[in-house]
Amino acid sequence: MIEPRQPALFLGHGSPMNALEENQFTQSWSQLGREFSQGGNKPKAILMISAHWMTDVVAVTAMSQPKTIHDFGGFPPALFAMQYPAPGSPELAQRIAQALAPMPLMQDQKWGLDHGAWSVLVKMFPDADIPVVQLSLNLNENAAFHFNLGQRLAGLREEGVMIIASGNVVHNLRRLDPRVASFDWAQRFNGVIRETILKENFADAVNYDQFGTDAQLSVPTSEHYLPLLYILGAKHPDDQIRIENDEMVMGSISMMSVILS
Ligand code: ZN
Repeated sequence: MIEPRQPALFLGHGSPMNALEENQFTQSWSQLGREFSQGGNKPKAILMISAHWMTDVVAVTAMSQPKTIHDFGGFPPALFAMQYPAPGSPELAQRIAQALAPMPLMQDQKWGLDHGAWSVLVKMFPDADIPVVQLSLNLNENAAFHFNLGQRLAGLREEGVMIIASGNVVHNLRRLDPRVASFDWAQRFNGVIRETILKENFADAVNYDQFGTDAQLSVPTSEHYLPLLYILGAKHPDDQIRIENDEMVMGSISMMSVILS
């Protein structure tokens, strides 16, 4: 039986509070979950690449019951009480190792689902009945490495696996300002990356350093940006590219999402 190709999504996740709130962003995530479950096309499993699992190797969660990780501080008890009890998939973890061989892939038994993963999944797939595995971000590697991993994982989409990457194209917590809709540098960087995506100039998204000060301010550390490159790498020639949630919050966080389907 031929599986319909699963989509690949980059979701701007923003504040962990989105997991509790109902707003325009979370409504979009809920809508995406409904859209991509229609007609029996619900994914068999989800491969999640979150900004919040940073390692110095490449690792994949390989346990059958990943725990919900509350990797933040200073939020209300209701957020710490949230659980996302989706099963894991040791089989998918092994399949990913195969897809990435001969690169070594650490089969991890300690991590789980961090808030980059569950804060969006709880809205997309609230039943938590689809197995989820997370792939870590090896921050010793350069941007091209992460794009290349996306290319090597693309084939999983033909096997019923939805690929979701969760981060933010612009993410500067030091510059957060509730009085500012969007800083100029954030707007410019977000716009130039949006253009590179829509024109499929993915090499420019990989070489984002070329955008100078705008890039340095928008991507002061790379972990929220790099997940995007997995999704661009995983693009199939037949995919349509759709941009959603193209908004800034508190001046220095872009919620832009990229949907390939
Ligand atoms: Zn985050």
